[in-house]
Amino acid sequence: MLSYKQQTLEDRWDAIVVGSGIGGLAAAALLAKHAGKRVLVLERHYTAGGYTHSFRRPNYSWDVGVHYVGEAQNPDSPVRAVFDHITGGALEWHPMPKVYDRAIIGEQTFDFSAGVENLHEALKRTFPSESAGIDGYLAAVQSARKAGELYFAEKAVPGPIARLAGRWMRAPFLKWASRTTLDVLQQFTRDPELIGILTAQWGDYGLPPAQSSFGMHAIIAGHYFQGASYPIGGSARIAETIAPMIQRNGGKIVVSAEVREILIEDRAAVGVRMADGCEFRSNLVVSDVGARNTFDRLVQDPQPIREDLRHIPGSMAHLSLYAGVKESAASLGLNGTNLWICPSADHDANLARFLNDPAAPFPMLFISFPSAKDPAFDKKHPSRATIEAVALAPYEWFARFEDTKWKKRGEDYDSFKAGMQCRIQRELEQAVPAIAGKIDHAELSTPLTTRHFMNYAHGEAYGLAATPQRFLTRSLKPRTSVRNLYLTGQDVATLGVTGAMMGGVVAASAILGRNLLKSIRSG
Ligand SMILES: Cc1cc2nc3c(=O)[nH]c(=O)nc-3n(C[C@H](O)[C@H](O)[C@H](O)COP(=O)(O)OP(=O)(O)OC[C@H]3O[C@@H](n4cnc5c(N)ncnc54)[C@H](O)[C@@H]3O)c2cc1C
Repeated sequence: MLSYKQQTLEDRWDAIVVGSGIGGLAAAALLAKHAGKRVLVLERHYTAGGYTHSFRRPNYSWDVGVHYVGEAQNPDSPVRAVFDHITGGALEWHPMPKVYDRAIIGEQTFDFSAGVENLHEALKRTFPSESAGIDGYLAAVQSARKAGELYFAEKAVPGPIARLAGRWMRAPFLKWASRTTLDVLQQFTRDPELIGILTAQWGDYGLPPAQSSFGMHAIIAGHYFQGASYPIGGSARIAETIAPMIQRNGGKIVVSAEVREILIEDRAAVGVRMADGCEFRSNLVVSDVGARNTFDRLVQDPQPIREDLRHIPGSMAHLSLYAGVKESAASLGLNGTNLWICPSADHDANLARFLNDPAAPFPMLFISFPSAKDPAFDKKHPSRATIEAVALAPYEWFARFEDTKWKKRGEDYDSFKAGMQCRIQRELEQAVPAIAGKIDHAELSTPLTTRHFMNYAHGEAYGLAATPQRFLTRSLKPRTSVRNLYLTGQDVATLGVTGAMMGGVVAASAILGRNLLKSIRSG
C-alpha cells in the first residue's frame, strides 16, 4: 500500500472510495472485478483496513477490531463465498476452539459451544424449566436472520422497485428489528438469569438488551451459532489479501490520504478534495467513513442528511488494553476461547451504574487471546503471547481532552487513563491467572485514540448505534440524495466485519444494478 506523500496520482479515476475499512475495500474490489473499474481508495490512517488493521510494537502485534468472525469457517456460507471472491481465496481461516465464547456472570459460567444443537442442549441443561422459551428464542433468532436477507437486499434494488416492493421486503425483518432485545426475550422467558446469558455477548453490538434492536442481536448471536474463526496471520491479512483484486485493474490503495470534502456539482458527486487541497475527479464516489462523517463533515453543500439520521445516536466508545507476555500461548495454556465477564445478569443495570460512576464494576469486560487463535503467530513473534481486554466507555468522560494532541494530552488525562488501565489489567490477571505478574508490555487505547486514528468524532466503536430506530430509518442505504455518491460499510448494513463487508456488496450491487451476492454465491 502506498503513502500519499510519496505518490503522484492521476487526477481522474473510474471510482473513488473514501476510507479503507472492510466495507470500502469490498466495494472497491467488487467494482474492479465485476465492472473493470480503476478504483482509487483513499485512507486517512497510515495503514489500510479500518478496524481490521493491526499495529506493531517490538516483538508484538495486535488487532484493533477483529477478535472472531462467524460463518467464515463454513465453505458453503455466503460470508465465506464473499471473502473468497474478493480475496481470490487468499485469506485463510483458522477455527476457534469448540467453546468460542465463555460468559462469566458473577459466579455463574456458561460456555457457548459451536453448533446450535450444542447451545440448545446447554441452555436446556442449565434452565430445564425454560425449555419452551429456549425453543422459541432460537426460532426467533433464525426467523429474524432469514428475514434480514430480504431487508438488506432491498437497500440495493433500484428506486422504482423499492417504491413498489420495499415495504413488503422490509416488513418481516422489522417485525423483529423494531423491538428491543429485552422486549422480544421477555416474550419467551421471564428468567433474568437466562436473559443475562442469552445477551452476555452484548458487547459485540455495543448495547444492552433494553436498548439494542432484537434484529441486531439475532444477526450477531446467530452469526456465531456454528462457531467462529480467525484470519490466519492476523486481521491485517484481510486488507492485504483484498488489495490485489483492486490493484489488478490499475486501482490503488493510498494511505495517509485524508479526504477533506466530497466535491459536488449540479447535485452530483464529481470527486474529492484532499486535506492538502489537491483534487481527484470521478463520477462515482463511495464513502466508507460512516453516514454521519460523510454527511456532517465531507459533504458541504447541499446538506442532504435526512432528519431521521440525526435521531440515531452514535455507538458507544471503548477502552482496549493491549497486553504482551514473553511466553507462547501454548506454554501459558491459553486456548483462544473469548471471555465475557459481567458483574450480574442485568446488563442494563450494570451499564447504567457504570455510566453514573466510573468506579463501578465494568458492565462487561471482553478478553481475547489473538496469539492463541492464530497458528501463524509463533512464526512472527516466537515465544510471545498477546491478549486484548476491551471495555465499553462513554466518550463524554474523555471529551474535555479532545483538543489535546495524541501522546501529549496532559497529566489529568494520563492519570485517568492509568487508573482505567490498572483496573483492566487487574481484572485481566484475575480472570487469566496464567499471565498474572508476567505482562511484559501493556498499553491502553481510549475513545480519543479511536477518534485520532479512526476519525469517529466520538470514538464510536461500531458507527451508528444498533437501536430499533436505526433499522427503521430509510436513510441508511447505499444510494444517497447526491447523485453518484454512495455509502458502504457498517452503517449501510450492520456493524461487524461481515456486516460491513456485506455493506460493500450491497453498495456495489446498487452501483452496478446487479445482484452481486447472487452471482457470487452461484460461483
Ligand atoms: C474493539 C472492537 C472489536 C471488534 N471486534 C469485532 C470482531 O471480533 N468481529 C467482528 O466481526 N467485528 C468486530 N468489530 C467491528 C468491526 O471491526 C467493524 O464493524 C468493521 O470493521 C467496520 O468496517 P467499516 O468498513 O464500516 O469501517 P471502518 O473499519 O470504520 O473504516 C473506516 C475507514 O475510513 C477512514 N476514514 C475516516 N475518515 C476519513 C477521511 N476523511 N479520509 C480518508 N479516510 C477516512 C478511517 O481511517 C477508517 O480506516 C470490532 C470493533 C471494535 C471497535
